[in-house]
Amino acid sequence: REGAEAGDDFVGGLVDGVALHGHRARAAGAAARPLHFFAYGWGETSEPLGETQSGAMARLRGLGFVTNPLGLVCDDVEALLACYRGIEVQRATLGYDIDGVVYKVDDLALQARLGFRSTTPRWALAHKFSAQRASTLLEAIDIQVGRTGALSPVARLTPVTVGGVVVANATLHNADYIAGRDSKGQPIREGRDIRVGDWVTVYRAGDVIPKIEDVDLSRRPADSVPYAFPKTCPICGSDAVREEGEAAVYCTGGLICPAQAMEKLKHFVSRGAFDIEGLGAKAVEAFFADGWIREPADIFTLADRHGPGRPTQVKNREGWGGKSAENLFAAIEQRRAIPLDRLIFGLGIRHVGETAA
Ligand SMILES: [Zn+2]
Repeated sequence: REGAEAGDDFVGGLVDGVALHGHRARAAGAAARPLHFFAYGWGETSEPLGETQSGAMARLRGLGFVTNPLGLVCDDVEALLACYRGIEVQRATLGYDIDGVVYKVDDLALQARLGFRSTTPRWALAHKFSAQRASTLLEAIDIQVGRTGALSPVARLTPVTVGGVVVANATLHNADYIAGRDSKGQPIREGRDIRVGDWVTVYRAGDVIPKIEDVDLSRRPADSVPYAFPKTCPICGSDAVREEGEAAVYCTGGLICPAQAMEKLKHFVSRGAFDIEGLGAKAVEAFFADGWIREPADIFTLADRHGPGRPTQVKNREGWGGKSAENLFAAIEQRRAIPLDRLIFGLGIRHVGETAA
């Protein structure tokens, strides 16, 4: 179901009664990974796979497909709920993320009679697990500066296990969220603000980034102070301003801001833009740190400055060798001409995504 999003790499699906969240790896990385899927349904077939859902699943297994071993047939509501609780217990150790189970009518003739609402079947019902929560200490609030210059607050937490995953960071969204109000100025968490030193409830649902749900005021230190959102960029020191109607505060440094310059570079070489093989985020960071690549145009002079015969060469850098350096230069050459839409997207103009480009 989820894999139907065109071009989206995908490792999961609705599986014989269990909804999976895929690990959304980039396709390039995913190609190198061992990927597995559980067959859970079928499209058009020349003849019926069976008379029941469970029979059709057995048939798929007979044909060599892997189906989810947790699926089973239940005779009544009590059995369904017991299955739900049983799977919830196993959730943390399954080796893949799930956010609930799906109950299906087993008899395929009854499924056909029940039919569909506009898009959802009347013969299947999702029963989600509750989000997983844990309480921990908020040690610090760090500010990350993104490609557009937006200052994003990140909570640094005393590591805590939430549903089998160790969580040490959580998003804090923006200044309003920390202060306890939404974008319209209405209170959230009944107006409770979030402070460094607070005990907070962290939760994660599915495979999303952990979030902070609430604070425990009873454990707030007496000397705590409200968080003051920075008025300058922590990276370059430029003024950080909030424009009318925007939730985020932006660094005004533009390309003099190293954080923005580097994030823009990473975007420039990303998959939807120049997509230069061998020049991923890590490589960009390393080249940027050494001043070898400071702006997009530098990528195309890299071979002249640090290619064969030059005093300092890519092939001598840590993690590089003759072959990988050669491949990188070849990949860069290949991208000297690219479609205009990729170039426009690569420039990373605010409000211009792949579709607009
Ligand atoms: Zn800055």
